[in-house]
Amino acid sequence: MTEPAELILHNGDILTFDPTRPRVQALAVRGGRIVATGGDDLVAAFSGPATRRIDLQGRFAMPGFNDTHAHMEREGLKQQRLSLAGAGSVAEILRRIATATAAASPGDWIVTMPVGEPPYYFDGVTKLAEGRMPTREELDRAAPENPVYIPGHFGNWGVPPGHTALNSRAIALNGLSRHSCPRCRGIDFICDEVTGEPTGAIVERNGRPAVEFDMLRAVPRFGFEERLEGLRRSIELYHACGTTSVYEGHGSAPETISVYRALWERGELTMRTGLCVSPSWSGVGEAQRAMRDWLAYARGKGLGDPWLSISGVHVAYGGDKLVAELARADLPNTGWSGFVEQAYTPEEFREVCFLAAEHDLRLNTIVGDHLHEIVPVLQAINERHPLAGKRWVIQHIARARLEDLKALKALGVMVTTIPTYFLWKGGHAYLNEPDGGDLVVPHRHMLDLGLPLAIATDNIPYDPFFTLWVAMARQERVTGRQIGPGQALDVETALRLFTAAGAALTFDEGWKGPLMPGFAADIAVLSRNPLSLDAGEVRGLECLMTLVDGRIVHAQPF
Ligand SMILES: [Zn+2]
Repeated sequence: MTEPAELILHNGDILTFDPTRPRVQALAVRGGRIVATGGDDLVAAFSGPATRRIDLQGRFAMPGFNDTHAHMEREGLKQQRLSLAGAGSVAEILRRIATATAAASPGDWIVTMPVGEPPYYFDGVTKLAEGRMPTREELDRAAPENPVYIPGHFGNWGVPPGHTALNSRAIALNGLSRHSCPRCRGIDFICDEVTGEPTGAIVERNGRPAVEFDMLRAVPRFGFEERLEGLRRSIELYHACGTTSVYEGHGSAPETISVYRALWERGELTMRTGLCVSPSWSGVGEAQRAMRDWLAYARGKGLGDPWLSISGVHVAYGGDKLVAELARADLPNTGWSGFVEQAYTPEEFREVCFLAAEHDLRLNTIVGDHLHEIVPVLQAINERHPLAGKRWVIQHIARARLEDLKALKALGVMVTTIPTYFLWKGGHAYLNEPDGGDLVVPHRHMLDLGLPLAIATDNIPYDPFFTLWVAMARQERVTGRQIGPGQALDVETALRLFTAAGAALTFDEGWKGPLMPGFAADIAVLSRNPLSLDAGEVRGLECLMTLVDGRIVHAQPF
């Protein structure tokens, strides 16, 4: 007699990524794990008096997405600030600020989201009817007794420059005057040509904004409770897209880790989360001490359980020393990033990587166009500390050389990519490649070489269907031109890289990923079957139901 299942999904079209049973109609779940997959005869075989049965009505289901560079905690925080979305004029922005001010107490900060349309804020200011930001005087009239801060967009969302506006109270509280001078390059602190006084306007041309760390020490930071609430909201939003696991490959700062830990401790963490440490050390000497004295918990496979685990460190290649120093001085706050800014010369990078290998801390690093500079470092390390099986993660590969990809395969490292960042949003940099872009985010080459690969959203946006579309269509944002068409992924491969493939990043491939007996019941039910759709249609898919550990964490009627 078969023990009844707690849950049976039936009458579905289920893509499992289990090579022995790739497509099934039904699956049975007990204790959060799949106990059987197969035809609708499972219903009779596994039903008991307490079994819940969900009729998928022919819908397509698959493993939940595993977003392997998610920046998940950001999404919910965006909802905590006054939105300027849809505000097409300075007048409308001022009206919203006046309304928010009327509901606030005198002295309370009024902090908005950036000008422009989320999630990118492209050309936010130039699209306003007046073609400019609100002035200090206008903001003073809208909020005479409250400091007002309109921030520029965070770097990953749009493209520089970012436009900040402050009213008089905000200028005063930040101690800014005609004598103030930014320390970081790329920041223009604008003063009036006639009076010499600050206009409240700051223009920042840095990809990663530094102005809050540099000049705006008084503007509100996200506190622990806000981050906790933000993370709760983020998890709902990511689940609503079918995401059931995240890996935060960019590293998580102490304040981010503590928020995850709090949710986990309260039993509220429904997203399977893999973190790596974003270190706050200031240089090689401190790195050595930290790795030796207190970072042992992140060595090897790290510590954790099926909900939250931490292993390894993120080490940046390059970066601006001054920005990193100012950002560290603002810790525990990390602003929108959630990770600690780092800056290493190539020599320091090499030293820190060697230290990480010595201490069995697996490395996560973002390479962009610099893979060719990083491969020799990995090869040198591998001579002394073999990397095979250590699962070092090379992230965000943009332009690559075939021989470097081959080297990565030989080294046994893992690779994650963010198609949206380099192909769509930043694709203009690769429109004139001599080979047509065949070696930019070269997914097919990576797969042909047998590189272990997973793809991710980077929260730009967090909707995985958008990233799937980019991986399939490879179209640059403005021109729509295709970059390296030969590297386009078919939908089934893209889905595999975005679901089952990510489990290995957290050493979880023995119980998570494919929908097969013994594996986690982490499942997404979609509005349509993507296998029969073209790339453009995939972009418009929706997730109707999401299950994690056999529990429904998102559902809309279908
Ligand atoms: Zn990132």
